[in-house]
Amino acid sequence: MKIGGKTKIVGIFGYPLAHSLSPHLHNAAFALLELDFVYLPFWVEPEDLDLAARAIKSLNMVGVNVTIPHKEEIIAYLDEVTPEARMMGAVNTVLNRKGRLIGYNTDGQGFIDSLNKEGRFDPRGKRVMLLGAGGAARAISSVLIRQGIASLIIVNRTQRRGEELAHHLKRIFKNRCPIDLLEFNQRSFWGGVREINLFVNATSVGMHAEDHLLTNLDLFSPGTFVYDVVYNRKTELLEAAEEQDLPCLGGLGMLIHQAALSFEIWTHGKAPLQKMREAAEKELGMGKRGI
Ligand code: NAD
Repeated sequence: MKIGGKTKIVGIFGYPLAHSLSPHLHNAAFALLELDFVYLPFWVEPEDLDLAARAIKSLNMVGVNVTIPHKEEIIAYLDEVTPEARMMGAVNTVLNRKGRLIGYNTDGQGFIDSLNKEGRFDPRGKRVMLLGAGGAARAISSVLIRQGIASLIIVNRTQRRGEELAHHLKRIFKNRCPIDLLEFNQRSFWGGVREINLFVNATSVGMHAEDHLLTNLDLFSPGTFVYDVVYNRKTELLEAAEEQDLPCLGGLGMLIHQAALSFEIWTHGKAPLQKMREAAEKELGMGKRGI
């Protein structure tokens, strides 16, 4: 990589950032396409977010990704937010368009692209069960409803957060589809689980080898698609799904597709998906095995 006086700067604001794969994905893509861009990690503490947002303009950066814990708070410092990001209440990509900061959210569309292109699964008309109510769950539930799913059932460890997400979705989407909440301790007994077509784990459970499997897949019907947003390892959920011959995908595809969409917002060019995947797999020590 050659950095010169005209090199364009993008990066990521987060805290902490040590395990972020994004610099690897984006810098590999810039190198492949010989684009004069560099992607840098910026450890931004919450109390410094306003300064960091202003620095996007003052340092003439092209844009940034935004990750935990800033995805919601960054909105206050932007000039414009796309309807999609507004609907999710979270921004993961910022573009500096001639001094105006525009906020996008590519997480939800990254999930849909992964589900469609890698999973060959069309969520339209499907019954969905979603585990989690954090940032990933918020982005995924919004795009799924927009895509036209038949129904959504949300399960979250903290009932209040689950209620907040259900309430938010009902407010935004009115009666677009039935949205229900299931108590966390009912998740393995609820008979309706036989009717679902898509199960999404949008919690962080599975990131660590000692994490317990949260879901009993015994009641799932054949053909139920299992998507796990966790991308750093092959989770017990994916292993259980494979054992039961259920179609399934891990979150690496979502990560790559959301990164590709950010790349395209900044460069106006097509992202090299395969190169980005290889860079991520290399960094995760996965060789060509994938998840
Ligand atoms: P968050 O902190 O906003 O939400 C975490 C969620 O996990 C909450 O719903 C919480 O209730 C649940 N949770 C945590 N520990 C739990 C436990 N022991 N039992 C039950 N539930 C538990 O985080 P987030 O931003 O929503 O991220 C969640 C996961 O999604 C992380 O693993 C993150 O890496 C992943 N993620 C993946 C992508 C991708 O592109 N593949 C994108 C965003 C997030």
